[in-house]
Amino acid sequence: MKTATLCVQAGTQRDPIFAGVNTPLHTSSSFDFPNDQNVSYYPRYFNTPNHIAVAQKMAELENAEAALITSSGMAAISSALLGVLKSGDHAIFQSVIYGGTHRFLDAVLPRFGITYSFTTGFDVSDFAKLIQKNTRLIYVETPSNPLLDIVDVAAIAELAKSRQLISMIDNTFATPINQRPLDLGFDIVVHSGTKYLGGHSDLCCGVIATSQKKAEQILPFLQDMGSSLDVHALALLERSLKTLSLRVRQHNTNALQVAQFLATHSKIKNVFYPGLETHPGYAIAKKQMVGFGGMLSYEMKNNGPTMSEFFSRLKIIRPASSLGGVESLICQPSKTSHAEVPPEERIKMGILDTLFRLSVGIEDVDDLIEDLKGAI
Ligand SMILES: *Cc1c(COP(=O)(O)O)cnc(C)c1O
Repeated sequence: MKTATLCVQAGTQRDPIFAGVNTPLHTSSSFDFPNDQNVSYYPRYFNTPNHIAVAQKMAELENAEAALITSSGMAAISSALLGVLKSGDHAIFQSVIYGGTHRFLDAVLPRFGITYSFTTGFDVSDFAKLIQKNTRLIYVETPSNPLLDIVDVAAIAELAKSRQLISMIDNTFATPINQRPLDLGFDIVVHSGTKYLGGHSDLCCGVIATSQKKAEQILPFLQDMGSSLDVHALALLERSLKTLSLRVRQHNTNALQVAQFLATHSKIKNVFYPGLETHPGYAIAKKQMVGFGGMLSYEMKNNGPTMSEFFSRLKIIRPASSLGGVESLICQPSKTSHAEVPPEERIKMGILDTLFRLSVGIEDVDDLIEDLKGAI
């Protein structure tokens, strides 16, 4: 089945008695022991019917053997990392990654005796030269937040395989509609489901998609940390995923048009969108992505309006944190997603105070362009 069909059909746990078309909401935290066994269903074990429904849908969408649905993106990222790494291991991380992930590495990994290096660039050679004797894992995020940098997924997977390293990717910005890293050789995909998977800015959740073997390695860690997703949120996530393909295709179309508009505007200095031929990652993005996604960022020239003037003039696009919802949102990454990264490191990453990040929603694109035009 194609992805649009999987979004709608995959994983549904139908109720045989009433035969409704949807997975029913199983609100029990206690279930009878099945077949005289002492192993039961329990929400924190990730095994209730609502967990199974969403996990199966996500596994099929990512073409994974297994998926685990967590209570946030950070729960997925932290548990996947700690589930496969141990004291004495070394890991390699892409330099520009989600601010929360960066913070987690600095705050937590040293306490568990895990060392790590950041790449300086995005080329496979930048990763290769950091490999040490005790390196166990390579971690990438592409397109990355907030500059939409692109890493060659197949090349990194090949490098990891040749050196017997685990490869892990944050696929939040692309979603499985635009990019399927396991098909390109990656071992573990993680998501902040809070973004496109939930898609309506009303959920906080995460996903890990991987092989059965790796899922079994990570699951006990997730159970011990207690980061499973509540059943009501699971039901909302399952519902959201049914329109994922439809939504993402509209995000792709709208973002490309907005990027093209901004790129020709006299008051805009730089536009970062992997679907523009001027973007350094364009060729690789074209090779590994179905669409270029709904995220873009741009720098305004100095003769434009101030940040607060600009924000107050917008009528549709809301200045707000987070991304990936049906509504368009704008923010200043240096004050939001990367506020906790030390300023000197942030500047090295290219995240200046003049940078805006736009999460292009699924409104009529003409209205979005008018809104931007008026505010600029
Ligand atoms: C938001 C985000 C995360 C963290 O997810 P939460 O659901 O907020 O825990 C991780 N990676 C990326 C790329 C994100 O945008």
